[in-house]
Amino acid sequence: MSQQLILVLNCGSSSLKGALLDNRSGDVLLSCLGEKLTTDDAYITFKQNGEKQQVSLAGRTDHTGAVAALLEKLQELGLQNQVRAIGHRVVHGGEKYSASVLIDETVIAELEACIPLAPLHNPANLTGIRAAQNIFPGLPNVAVFDTAFHQTLPAHAYTYAVPNKLYREHGLRRYGFHGTSYRFVAPEAARIIGKNIDDSRLVIAHLGNGASIAAVKNGRSMDTSMGLTPLEGLVMGTRAGDIDASVFVFLAANAGMNAEAVNDMLNKQSGLLGISELSNDCREIEEAAAKGHEGAKLAMEVMTYRLAKYIAAMAVAAGGIDALVFTGGIGENSDTVRSKTVGYLAFLGLNIDEAANTAVRFGKAGIISPDGQTPAVVVVPTNEELMIANDTADLAGLSA
Ligand code: ADP
Repeated sequence: MSQQLILVLNCGSSSLKGALLDNRSGDVLLSCLGEKLTTDDAYITFKQNGEKQQVSLAGRTDHTGAVAALLEKLQELGLQNQVRAIGHRVVHGGEKYSASVLIDETVIAELEACIPLAPLHNPANLTGIRAAQNIFPGLPNVAVFDTAFHQTLPAHAYTYAVPNKLYREHGLRRYGFHGTSYRFVAPEAARIIGKNIDDSRLVIAHLGNGASIAAVKNGRSMDTSMGLTPLEGLVMGTRAGDIDASVFVFLAANAGMNAEAVNDMLNKQSGLLGISELSNDCREIEEAAAKGHEGAKLAMEVMTYRLAKYIAAMAVAAGGIDALVFTGGIGENSDTVRSKTVGYLAFLGLNIDEAANTAVRFGKAGIISPDGQTPAVVVVPTNEELMIANDTADLAGLSA
């Protein structure tokens, strides 16, 4: 039987992540990562059945070159004719998109209009869309937005306390990100705790290199920690998360840094990396902390304390809490981060069963709180690619 394959693309400014999925089975047949795009050293790595193959992109170093190399790989595997549609992860849909959309020229114009909201991400996403249209002419393309799921936030959660004119004229408000992940994880978590998603209060922490947390009540996002951009909220790999906005003026006056330098510092040199002066990678931080590295120990403490504070805040937004849910590379794998964080939250009735905490890692889903405890603490591995593939199949009319 011929397969119905969906190509999922996620373009960064110098990278392209791709996955080829059969969305009906969830099987990933091929994945790829193009790196250092638009430089002379550009290359793409294909991964199939656990085997990796690296291919130079010399002579075609841009995103279109990377997508062309992906097409050649599909031809080599005899799969090119089974690709039915392409789904694109798009970072910012502004207030325009509260759901995924089939891409046409009007959508492209809207995405261009959203560039001021995501000046680094949206242009890269658009480059990926154009590359896919050129290399796979005739295939439907679908945009799946990181922001869309959070369009249900009430005004009291998305409004910043600044002159309201700035919202009306420039769209300055909280948007939130990681929406595709929350949309996948929320129903899974409700199922695991045996609750109907329409009658559930979930606080979900998506902890990866970028990290955020959301309050999901009855399946709808009520609040989230990321804001206008992905910088706000939790301590991340290299992002500071919450900080007094006066830091811009303070560092301009005292450290000779302009707005661009401060922004760069807050996004790329802060978080776990900035505090530890060692690494942005949580696993490395944990290992170093266990050996007594002072910076790594402090980074762990700041990250987990901030996270715990946010969990309590999100319980307010959800109107209570039936389950605290961990996902993302750190949330799915780090029993240490989970244990330290929940350690602050016994007053909310949250506790961890350490044996379950150690057991539920590395791709497993399950409850890690003591048997029968409400609220429960749950781990759900996220699957944003599958969510994007499902939306893409739906909008391309392939699901029937
Ligand atoms: P991205 O946001 O890039 O998708 P991931 O969700 O893959 O990132 O998460 C990457 C993070 O997960 C890294 O900080 C990595 O160190 C962390 N991580 C992965 N496995 C473990 C582990 N076993 N213990 C602690 N942290 C882990």
